[in-house]
Amino acid sequence: MKIGLEVHLQLPTVSKLFCSCSTSGNGPNTSICPTCLGFPGSRPKLNRRALEMTIMISRFLDCRISERSWFSRKTYFYPDLPKNFQITQYESPIGVEGGYSFNGKIVRITRVHLEEDPGKIKRVGKSGEEVSLIDYNRSGIPLVEIVTAPDITSPSEAREFMADLLIELRHLVGLSERDEQTVRVDANISVGEERVEIKNILGLKNLERGLSFEASRQNKMLKAGRRIVRETRNFDEERRVTTPARSKESEEDYGYILEPDLGVYQVSSMAKTVQVPETPLKRAERLSAEYGIDRNSIRQIVLTSSTLTDFLERLCSNMPPEIAVTWVLGPLSSNWKYLERSLNEDLSNRIENTIQMVIRGDITDSEARMRIGAFARGGGAETTQDSKERSSLAELVSECIDQTPQVLFDFNSNKRAANFIIGQIMRETKGKYSSSEIVETVNKEIERRLKDRVII
Ligand SMILES: [Zn+2]
Repeated sequence: MKIGLEVHLQLPTVSKLFCSCSTSGNGPNTSICPTCLGFPGSRPKLNRRALEMTIMISRFLDCRISERSWFSRKTYFYPDLPKNFQITQYESPIGVEGGYSFNGKIVRITRVHLEEDPGKIKRVGKSGEEVSLIDYNRSGIPLVEIVTAPDITSPSEAREFMADLLIELRHLVGLSERDEQTVRVDANISVGEERVEIKNILGLKNLERGLSFEASRQNKMLKAGRRIVRETRNFDEERRVTTPARSKESEEDYGYILEPDLGVYQVSSMAKTVQVPETPLKRAERLSAEYGIDRNSIRQIVLTSSTLTDFLERLCSNMPPEIAVTWVLGPLSSNWKYLERSLNEDLSNRIENTIQMVIRGDITDSEARMRIGAFARGGGAETTQDSKERSSLAELVSECIDQTPQVLFDFNSNKRAANFIIGQIMRETKGKYSSSEIVETVNKEIERRLKDRVII
């Protein structure tokens, strides 16, 4: 089975691609002007930020950046497109021949280009009396199209691929939840020789469902000895089936011509100034390789929070990575929401020291967990529970010495006399306190009594 995807992503720019209308219109047809409606005489002007974002996405996807790039008019007639052509890129996409590493393989990226979104058609009214309403707020919003080669081999893999890609894009260009909900995918799938395209799928679940339906439909046809026709289909979200769409024009039918109102852009020289930040999953990959950390663990940490990952990196440079991961995945992850709020150098040091104390054997695991919990609740101070437990240790030691005062006399000549008390407390508290803590408390109490001459 071969699956290829065309991902359409709205870029989160402030203004539209070719005019200064806002991309966040309030109410239908409130953010429009002669340019995004394509009135005669209007002149498009390219939004530089949209171009930069497209270059960034292309570079992130390891694409070769075109030396020069320009726009074309894709001619078709439809009510969502009042000027009867869409400004898009045909011969000179921003990026070509890239690849995205996923599931231990590379999904090839054929092209990344920039275009304008058409308006949005909404059908209302009951069956038989439907009318179409058009909102042109969407008309002219920058849209990036990412086209993959048919390197995906199952519907679930397509879904995972999209989920990963969205995590990366969210970080790269700063997508909001609303932006993500508008991501549309066209998916082509071939079980046998001929491929079928499913248009305009919204959402990861629908992507998997649509492809699964189409895979089994094609399989059944092949089993029955029928031929699969090359066609375009729509996915019906409610019935969860694909149905034939209008017969698709071939690319030549669109009659692409050069857009004369826009220039030719020196994209590759511009690309040199565009920084590509490290994305979460790339970071996970790097940390996994650098510190030999298991991929799933590191992925979980990276997806929890970037500051938690920063903290992991800090710990890894000062302690064995497997210990750092255990603490980060465990008590730090579960408390991170609170710790993050008051995180500064001092608190970072205290958390790290707590873990170092466990490594040295100065305190027990559970003591360290309690301390981290306390940091989360109070930003650092001991909790009442904490100090109560500590005072109860002191009380216990005190009682024990009261019962065997001989120890105090012996201690003067032989410090090891304290071991008797230490042993007793350890037996009684059954690992609740670390040995170093018990030793410290016992010694302190004996010394205090000797100093104050408190015998009983
Ligand atoms: Zn406009």
